[in-house]
Amino acid sequence: MNFQCKNCGGNMVFDPDSGKMHCEHCGGFDCETQRGDRSVTVCASCGGEISAEANVSATKCPYCGNHLVFDERVEGSYEPEEIIPFTVSKNKAIELMKKTFKKRTFAPKGFLSSLSFRELKGNYVPFFLYDYDTMTDFDGVGTKVKTWTKGNTEYTETSYYRILRKMRAKFSKVPADATFLADDKMDLLEPFAYERLVKFMPKFMSGFEGYIYDFPSSTYEPRIKGKISNDISGLLRNSYSEFSGVRADVLETDFGEAKSEYALLPVWTYFYKFGDKTYDIYVNGVTGKVVGKAPVSKKKVLGYSAFFGAMIWIIGQAAMLLLEVIR
Ligand SMILES: [Zn+2]
Ligand SMILES: [Zn+2]
Repeated sequence: MNFQCKNCGGNMVFDPDSGKMHCEHCGGFDCETQRGDRSVTVCASCGGEISAEANVSATKCPYCGNHLVFDERVEGSYEPEEIIPFTVSKNKAIELMKKTFKKRTFAPKGFLSSLSFRELKGNYVPFFLYDYDTMTDFDGVGTKVKTWTKGNTEYTETSYYRILRKMRAKFSKVPADATFLADDKMDLLEPFAYERLVKFMPKFMSGFEGYIYDFPSSTYEPRIKGKISNDISGLLRNSYSEFSGVRADVLETDFGEAKSEYALLPVWTYFYKFGDKTYDIYVNGVTGKVVGKAPVSKKKVLGYSAFFGAMIWIIGQAAMLLLEVIR
């Protein structure tokens, strides 16, 4: 399908600045009509056969330049339940990248040139968002050490405490990207602004690239459980922070049944070729967060340090936490 202007017949695309459908030809807003109900890779506008890869769900027709969405790739089991429409426009993404990499004086000249920015693409990336209601049992021993001096003698008293915890933690919308894009970089883009999730409508994809998920949601469950386990460990540590050392004898988490939703999240991608390497930079299409490393020109001085340090996964995604402490 594609979206056409009722007034002039121009191609209508989703405009992140206004949050409306915009006619690139006459400048009209929200005056679109949906067209085309044809075979998956035929352009609804010019009839041209498009050789899009099997995982592409939205793209630009190479013949007429109209943006289109492949019906069969956003329907049935491939129909996303929700989407966060872009709020960061292409110009805004460029501005944010320039700001982020302004101090990268060792980057090659062409890195942030307008020519290279042709490679900047707005993608709707398929994600699965998982809900888990977990129950963790912990049994361990904590130590407290007290030292004091009396006369010429130093005394040390070590006390041992049994620590029992039964902790219920509910997690909601823990994301896993379901594409070829680098998992670690996608993790760094988090959190997306989940309050901006809306019911999926194909029109939001007009003007952007879109993909379908590579594998069903069960494939990504181990990854999500790993993320959640780290969080649970952190919550447990907070609950016995008064001890100087803790030995865990039992640490078991029951994850229960996974619930997942299929959602499309907005990401600007920029793949910059330099030498024999491709540098991938990402801009979160709703928060504007920039992730990636600038290439370093060998001609310039070395001594460049990594821009992004530790990966932080926001615990704030835990919607509700019920902590039951047995002493
Ligand atoms: Zn128009
Ligand atoms: Zn076409």
